[in-house]
Amino acid sequence: MHKRTDRFSLQVAKEVYELAFEALNHKRWISGQMNRRSFLKAIGSAALLPILPRYLSASTSFSRRRPSDAAWPSKSEWKRLNDAVGGNLIPVKFPLAVSKTDPSGASAELLSQNLKNPYYIGDQPGLTQTLGWVDAWATKPSVYAVAARNAHDIAEAVNFSRENDLRLVVKGGGHSYQGTSNAPDSLLIWTRHMNDIAMHTAFVPQGCDHVLQPQPAVTMGAGTIWVHAYNAVTTRGGKYVQGGGCMTVGTAGLIQSGGFGSFSKHYGSAAGSLLEAEVVTADGQIRIANTCNNPDLFWALKGGGGGSFGVVSKMTVRVHDLPDYFGTANLTIKAASDDSYRRLIREFVSFYRDHLFNDHWGEQARVSPDNKLVINMNSQGLDPDQAKKVWKPFLDWIALSPQAYSIEGRVVIGSIPARRWWDFQWWANHWPEIAFPNPNGRFLISMLDESLTYLMKEPVFQLDKRPGAGPNDAWWDGNTAEAAWFIWAYESLWLPSSLLEDSSQQRFADALFAGSRTSYISLHFNKGLAGAPPDAIAGARDTAMNPAVLTAFALAIAGDGQGPAYPGIPGHEPSVGEGRKAADRIHRGMNQLRALVPNAGAYVSESNFFEKGWQQSYWGNNYPRLAEIKRKYDPGGLFVVHNGVGSEDWSADGFTRL
Ligand SMILES: Cc1cc2nc3c(=O)[nH]c(=O)nc-3n(C[C@H](O)[C@H](O)[C@H](O)COP(=O)(O)OP(=O)(O)OC[C@H]3O[C@@H](n4cnc5c(N)ncnc54)[C@H](O)[C@@H]3O)c2cc1C
Repeated sequence: MHKRTDRFSLQVAKEVYELAFEALNHKRWISGQMNRRSFLKAIGSAALLPILPRYLSASTSFSRRRPSDAAWPSKSEWKRLNDAVGGNLIPVKFPLAVSKTDPSGASAELLSQNLKNPYYIGDQPGLTQTLGWVDAWATKPSVYAVAARNAHDIAEAVNFSRENDLRLVVKGGGHSYQGTSNAPDSLLIWTRHMNDIAMHTAFVPQGCDHVLQPQPAVTMGAGTIWVHAYNAVTTRGGKYVQGGGCMTVGTAGLIQSGGFGSFSKHYGSAAGSLLEAEVVTADGQIRIANTCNNPDLFWALKGGGGGSFGVVSKMTVRVHDLPDYFGTANLTIKAASDDSYRRLIREFVSFYRDHLFNDHWGEQARVSPDNKLVINMNSQGLDPDQAKKVWKPFLDWIALSPQAYSIEGRVVIGSIPARRWWDFQWWANHWPEIAFPNPNGRFLISMLDESLTYLMKEPVFQLDKRPGAGPNDAWWDGNTAEAAWFIWAYESLWLPSSLLEDSSQQRFADALFAGSRTSYISLHFNKGLAGAPPDAIAGARDTAMNPAVLTAFALAIAGDGQGPAYPGIPGHEPSVGEGRKAADRIHRGMNQLRALVPNAGAYVSESNFFEKGWQQSYWGNNYPRLAEIKRKYDPGGLFVVHNGVGSEDWSADGFTRL
């Protein structure tokens, strides 16, 4: 009898729950004419409040459970989950613990070496690529993780968390700067091993047979990291997929934040190429999201931020044709005085507008207090001679004033066959010195031009040398510093292309110079889409990102930190004082640009943990629509991340409804 009542109650509760979902679809909820309780009352179901999931029936005092709470699931309940996910529920260890308990031991020494290897970090459910941020967060492990193999495992974990009022967190590549894939006292859904990749020659999203043309595409499990996608799509497949510049970033995390790679100025944002996602929503349903199914959810997953709308189990993205060449332009110019530096910046702004402001050129130029202009840019579609020709006027201008300007190191401008860009075995065979440091610590590079052999100070990439690592498990050496980083400060803002107009260039150059007095500032040209082809702009326009990205020619980024560092580890304590000073310097530097563009907007994944007005900054006028979709698919706020859509309703730790 008791059982039957329970089943009946649950059935009614389910119907009420579904009705609630339907009601949430209607604007009445959104416009505040009806709240949760008045809705239940109106349909005569207030009596059911006790049997509804706590997060639907709860008053404002709702809090999620921690291991110290009596209501934390019992061992047998955890066993039930473990059985449901095929034995893949694991207690999460904290690898950094050994550095506290035995800081001078061999294990701590090995850990400290491994912490500079992004693959090692990615393999640890209890670690994140960034270890923390001064005055913001420090990484801490979840209690348990479901090492998910498929959408069904994910659905089990989602249902278990919802039914037991647990804090849930999702981690793929683990590259969130803001710690959004990290939550202590939580259950983690860890997708690392969901890394299957399948190429399609003629993909049609489900249900879109008469709507969309078949097109080449690739489906990637949610735990796939970009280097593995590039191996499959470019090295083996001779095609291109738009992913991240950093090769160890996770595909699901990057696409959900918008996502840019070195060649985005031609191919657009990663989200702009998304064709379909399989996603588990808060109700435990496995849904297909594309133009024809759940199109609102599909749109939100394209740039609305990871960890807010559901757990993605796989994604299918368009693949593009590959150009003949990918290339690079690296040079560092030192100005002899502040005055000559000011003129150099002015000249570069003008040169950029006239010669580089197009879909061939992406990546970065950096200004800094030491009066250096560091250029690390990448090209697509230009052979070595074409690339060198582009830079000639700028190099000629520098050469005219040898007293004012000197080139540090060598100028490296060239390109290689695009298909070999992520083929590190090919690189190693052609230029072994690039892959592995030679004894005197210097490295040779020749970019398809045997007459140009340059000595460079740095290796181009590093390989994961742990036993069992894949032959192409590499990372750009430029990303090494960010492995196990403890951030002091990080800010970004989009720079509209109007700053490149003749009448604005001087003002912009002056602001850059002024900013460089207190902080280095990098202009990431591939993270603003002005200058991109119309189809790349159209793809990005149909995403949830702040539309400022469409008219920006670059994303300005300034950041600083130290690493490996973590609180309580002797010799590796984060320098809180230094960190706060750096945050102040960077803020003052970036304010010089903000003075020109007060409501510039910032890129959600690469921005300030303390971003003011983050809803507007990250999503602009798209925020109300995103908030509505959040309420529809996750009315109970199961998915909470720092400064994510709907997180206003939750305490900073995501445990207590405000
Ligand atoms: C060293 C470094 C280099 C970077 N380089 C670039 C770059 O070149 N271009 C660029 O655009 N960005 C870059 N980023 C930012 C990066 O793209 C974002 O932080 C991205 O969200 C990371 O995804 P992830 O899966 O690696 O990280 P995670 O930390 O695992 O996830 C990031 C967010 O997405 C959520 N998430 C992850 N998987 C899922 C899933 N399956 N379903 C739902 N939510 C999920 C997480 O909960 C979290 O909120 C870089 C970051 C770092 C640390």
